Amino acid sequence: MYSIHDEENLKRILLENWEKPFRYAQIENAIYKNYIKKYDEITTISKVSKTILNNNFFYSCLKLKTNITSDDWQTTKLLFETTDGKFLEAVIMRHLSWRNTLCVSSQVGCPMWCTFCATGKLGFTRNLEFYEIVEQILFASKMLYQEWKNLRNIVYMWMWEPFLNYENVKKSIEIVCSQNKLDFSNRRVTISTCWIVPWIKKFWDDFPQTSLAISLHAATDELRKSIMPCNITYPLTMLMSTLDEYVAKTNKKVFYEYIMIAWVNDSLENAKDLAWLLRWKLAHVNFIPYNEWEGDSDSEMKSTSKSRIKEFQNILFDVWIPSTIRHTMWDDIDAACGQLATREGREVGDYSRKD
Ligand code: SF4
Repeated sequence: MYSIHDEENLKRILLENWEKPFRYAQIENAIYKNYIKKYDEITTISKVSKTILNNNFFYSCLKLKTNITSDDWQTTKLLFETTDGKFLEAVIMRHLSWRNTLCVSSQVGCPMWCTFCATGKLGFTRNLEFYEIVEQILFASKMLYQEWKNLRNIVYMWMWEPFLNYENVKKSIEIVCSQNKLDFSNRRVTISTCWIVPWIKKFWDDFPQTSLAISLHAATDELRKSIMPCNITYPLTMLMSTLDEYVAKTNKKVFYEYIMIAWVNDSLENAKDLAWLLRWKLAHVNFIPYNEWEGDSDSEMKSTSKSRIKEFQNILFDVWIPSTIRHTMWDDIDAACGQLATREGREVGDYSRKD
């Protein structure tokens, strides 16, 4: 069986069964524009065509396990179970400005071991297939559509490192941005990564319009290595010079994510280091207050106070570096990346570290 999102095999099998050349377009339209739930709902194709689909293509491979919405109705966290019993998450963030955003996962767990991250504590289980990524997006689009809302932005930044699963991520972006499918603008898709320099170069060749976000979290090698072991392979000088090339080629701003952890990376010295690192760059910093997730009893990390985040931000403003503070709209639903999956994994004994 193949996924219905597997265009190559779908076209081949339709052809082998003497289906008319326009059949593919009819099926594509039903799936991506009309949001059908099963093949029998497609009114434009014959019974024989439906049998071909039922015999060769599965429509869905993710089962919604949990669906939690925050008290203010702004954030919905979706926990999916794959057919091989793994758990992955996606998060819908509704904004009053209608810029509804979906964060999708591209891996089950993450191999990067960042010390502050729930997903890192899962260890790595496997890469997601392109159709498992597309299904998260399709599910969220349908959900928002039922609320008379549109999905506006997609960010590959939940359980990940997307560049470690590049081919599947690439294929999923192609499906999402195809005019005949979900017809998303490339500009409204963002890939968030923490380090893999060679893939950043490939990415700007493949998707010059797509936005890039960097999980920075520290502005010196010493500090970054202590919380993000990945910095050992690609130190900041290498990362920043690659990003300078990226900006020169694409003329696009780079978004930098900076998690604020009390006593770890939130001193005013740290702010000055960040201002120095990003001076004169086409950059936007997104400060993310650390989410103290109850599942991690070993962690002594605490979120930085609001007043310190403001002080930190002012140091960047002084040198004309724009920034925003992410509103923590999701504390009541364990919505930091990997929290639900970590909890679920622990309960079913599914996740184990690979060491
Ligand atoms: S912060 Fe990102 S890269 Fe680091 S462990 Fe978490 S998901 Fe992986």
